Amino acid sequence: MTKVIFVAGGVMSGIGKGVATASIGRILKGKGFEVTAIKIDPYINLDAGTMNPTEHGEVFVTEDGLECDQDIGNYERFLDENIFDKNYMSTGRVYQAVISKERNLEYKGKCVEVVPHIPQEVISRIKKAGEKKDFVLVEIGGTVGEYQNMLFLEAARMMKMKHPKDILFFMVGYLPILKSIGEMKTKPTQYAVRTLNSAGIHPDFILARSSTTLDKIRKEKLSIFCNLDLEDIISAPDIKSIYDVPVNFEKENLGNKILKKLNLKAKKNDLKDWKEMIKTIEKAKKEVKIAIVGKYFESGSFSLKDSYISVIEAVKHAAYSLKLKPVIEWVSAESYEKNPQSLKKLKEYHGVIVPGGFGERGVKGKIKVIKHCRENKIPFLGLCLGMQLSVIEFAKNVCQIKGADSTEFSKKCTPIIDLLPEQEELLKNNNYGNTMRLGAYKCKIKPNTKAFSCYQKKDVLERHRHRYEFNNKYKEILEKNGMIFSGINPEKKLAEIIEIKNHPFFVAVQFHPEFKSRPLKPHPLFKGFIKKCK
Ligand code: GLN
Repeated sequence: MTKVIFVAGGVMSGIGKGVATASIGRILKGKGFEVTAIKIDPYINLDAGTMNPTEHGEVFVTEDGLECDQDIGNYERFLDENIFDKNYMSTGRVYQAVISKERNLEYKGKCVEVVPHIPQEVISRIKKAGEKKDFVLVEIGGTVGEYQNMLFLEAARMMKMKHPKDILFFMVGYLPILKSIGEMKTKPTQYAVRTLNSAGIHPDFILARSSTTLDKIRKEKLSIFCNLDLEDIISAPDIKSIYDVPVNFEKENLGNKILKKLNLKAKKNDLKDWKEMIKTIEKAKKEVKIAIVGKYFESGSFSLKDSYISVIEAVKHAAYSLKLKPVIEWVSAESYEKNPQSLKKLKEYHGVIVPGGFGERGVKGKIKVIKHCRENKIPFLGLCLGMQLSVIEFAKNVCQIKGADSTEFSKKCTPIIDLLPEQEELLKNNNYGNTMRLGAYKCKIKPNTKAFSCYQKKDVLERHRHRYEFNNKYKEILEKNGMIFSGINPEKKLAEIIEIKNHPFFVAVQFHPEFKSRPLKPHPLFKGFIKKCK
C-alpha cells in the first residue's frame, strides 16, 4: 500500500506547514521514492478561485486548471512534479461529492451520514491521489482544535486504525519565545498534542517551529509531556531560505527516521543538486534589485507578501541560477497615483514586474509605472494584468488611441482588452467560479524575438488564469507602432506575449510563467529578464 504521511498543525496557522510537508516530500524523493502530496483546505469553497488574495494569499493554478491554495505551489517547487486537481480537497468538494453520490443512489438506499460517509469519501480521495506512488503526503489545513478540520482528522484516524503500519502523523507546533522573559515555551505545543490525542491521533513526530533551534531541555520537556521519543522531536528553527528546510531536517536524520518507522530502506541518497543550490544561495553577493508593483499587500495594519508568492519565488530561482542575490521590494501601485514624483525612484531598481490582478484599484498607478519603464528603458516584465495594461498603455500613449482601456474597468472605453463572447455569457449569469481561462494552453513563439531568445523553442505550454483578452482588432495598428506579438495561441489566435522594439527588455505575457518556475529549473522568461537586469 502507498504509505501515507499526514501533517497537521498545532498552536496557530502560518508556521510553515506547507513548506514542512513539501520538504518531507523532497527528502523522500531524494531517497528514491515516488512522492506526491495532497492539500486539504477545511473551508466550504470548492476551490480558491473566488477568494480575495489578501485574505487567502496567492491563488495557484495547476497544469489542469485547478485554482488552489499556494501550498500546492510549494509542493510543485520542492518535489519538481506537477500536482493535479485530484490532489486538492476542501470541505465543499467532499460534501458535494457525497451529495451527488447520494443523488445517484450510490449508497444503495442507506441513510447518508456525516460520519462515516464524509471521512470515507476523504479516504477514497487520498487513495486515488496516491495511486502508483510510494508516498502520499496529506497536509490538513487549519489548526488542531478547530471545528472545521475535525472530519479530516477523523478520516486520518480511521485510516491509521485500518493500516497502522502504513501511516504516519506529523504535528507542526510552535514554540514562542517570550520577549519579557527571554524563554522558549513548550506549553502551547503540549496542549496542541493533547488536542490531537483527543481526536484519537498520536503524532509520530513533532516538528517544533520556533525562531531558534530547540535546546535539549525543551526537547526533553516535549518528549515527556507529549509522550514521544526524544529523537522524534525535530527542531525547525526560522532560517534564511525556505529551500534550506529539507537540508535542515536531514541534519536530524528525519528521512531515515521516517523510513525506519515504516520498515523501508532508502533506495538512494540524493539531495546533492539541492544542497549545491543552497550553497550558491549562500555565496551570492552581487545583488539584483527588483520591484514588484502590486496592490494585494495590506491586511489591517500588517503588510503581506503571500499574494505574490510564486512571482517572488520565480525571481529567486532565476537569480540563483545566475549566482545573484535577489533583493525584492513590494511597492504599492496606488502610491504612484497619489505621488507621481515617486516614479523617479524606480531607477533604484534593476528591473520592474507588474504582476496579475483584478479590478480597477491600482490600475492607474500600474499604467504610470509601465509608461515610465518603457520610456526610461528599465527592464520590465508584465504578467497577465501586467500584459493587458502594457498593451493599453502603448495604445494610449504611443498609438494615440483615445479611450484605450479594458472593459473590465470601463464599459464605454475603446476596448483594447475585452471579453470573449463565451465569457460575456458566463458573467451575465453570475457564473464566476472555475470559469476563467484556466490551466495550460499552447503558445507559438515567433522566431527572432526576445521571447524566442529566452525559450529557445517554438512551442510552449503556459498556465493561465484570466477572463479578458487582447482584442485582435487593434493588432495591426499596434504592430505598425512597434509592438511585437511574439507569442500567439495557435487554436484561438489569442495574443499571449507582447514585446516592444528598441528596449533592452520589455516583455509582457497573458499567462503566468511564475507557476512553472522551479528552484533548479528557473523559468526561461524570468531568467531572461533577470539576466538583462544584471
Ligand atoms: N483581471 C484580468 C482578467 O481577468 C487579469 C487577471 C490576472 O491578472 N490574473 O483577465
